[in-house]
Amino acid sequence: MNITELNLTDILLFIITLAISVIAIKISFTFNINEYLKTRKKDIDNKIKNYCPHGHVSVSDKEVKFQSAFNSPVGTTSYVCQRCQLVVSHIDENNEQERILRLLQDSKAYSRREKIFHKLLKKGGYI
Ligand SMILES: [Zn+2]
Repeated sequence: MNITELNLTDILLFIITLAISVIAIKISFTFNINEYLKTRKKDIDNKIKNYCPHGHVSVSDKEVKFQSAFNSPVGTTSYVCQRCQLVVSHIDENNEQERILRLLQDSKAYSRREKIFHKLLKKGGYI
């Protein structure tokens, strides 16, 4: 066995090992990126549902009106928010009225909430 032969085998082995490591790093990197994006999207979707006022405010004849965005699709008993897709199984009319009143009373908090909600929609690529 001469020295040149041994070196060639070593070099070949080194190249193969290197190639395998590069592929392994690439695969795990792609996997992590996908996982990260999935987690991030879920996170944004949850935040969107948290910040959504689940309704619209409109002003007509100097009267501020708040209309609930919850809608019950035909054939279902649950309610879906038209703005954030939040699904709730039951809506208590009194609770909903109270919630709307609270939102309207604190207009600053309401507009801040709308602002964050819009930012999140943009971040999530919905608008
Ligand atoms: Zn909503």
